[in-house]
Amino acid sequence: MNKEEIMSKIVERINKCNACRLSETRINVVPGEGNIYSPVMFVGEGPGEEEDKTGRPFVGRAGKLFDKILESVGLKREQVYIANVVKCRPPKNRVPMPDEVEACSPFLMAQIEVINPRVIVPLGATAMKFFLGDSVKSITSARGKLYSWKGEIKVFPMFHPSYLLRNASKAPGSPKYLTWEDIKKLKKMYDDFTRQMKSR
Ligand code: URA
Ligand code: URA
Repeated sequence: MNKEEIMSKIVERINKCNACRLSETRINVVPGEGNIYSPVMFVGEGPGEEEDKTGRPFVGRAGKLFDKILESVGLKREQVYIANVVKCRPPKNRVPMPDEVEACSPFLMAQIEVINPRVIVPLGATAMKFFLGDSVKSITSARGKLYSWKGEIKVFPMFHPSYLLRNASKAPGSPKYLTWEDIKKLKKMYDDFTRQMKSR
C-alpha cells in the first residue's frame, strides 16, 4: 500500500469510531486534511462547532486566523497537514478528557507514522501536552522552542489561534507578536526541509 492508501484506511477507521463518548454527540468526524508528504504537521486540540458541521479542521473563527498566520509567510493549507488530538467535537468545546485523548491517540499516532513529518507543531496547551507531557511547564514557556520527540521528529509548540483571538494586542512580547516570530521560524524550517527532500 502507498501513503495515500494507508491514510485513507486510517480515515475510514476514524470515521467509524465509537471508542469514546465524543462519538455520541458529534455530527461529523474531523480526521484531518492536507499534504501527507509535507515536512510540517499541525495538531490542534479538537474540532469546534464549525468543524463538527463540516468535517474539516480549523475552518471556524480560529481556523480563519490560522489561515492568515500561514499566509503571512506565504504558506498555504495545502502545503501542510492539519489534524487534531481528538477527532470528534467535545460538547461546548470543553477540553478533551484524558480517557478521550487516550481512546483517540492511536489515530493521531497512525497519521504521524504515515506522514512522518520533520516537525510537528502542537497548537495550544492540550496538543503540546500530548507530545511533551509534563516535561514542559506551560505553552507560554515552550512556544517557539524546538524539542526532540520520537526518532528524528521535532516538536515546535505554538499558541492556539483561539488564544490569539482572545488576546488581540500585537505589541512586542504579546502572544500575537510571538506567534508571528514563531511562524517565520517555522517557514524557514519548512523551506530547509523541502529543499533537502528535493535534493535527495
Ligand atoms: N480548534 C482546534 O483545536 N481544532 C480545530 O480543528 C478547530 C478549532
Ligand atoms: N492556553 C492554551 O491552552 N493555549 C494557548 O495557546 C495559550 C494558553
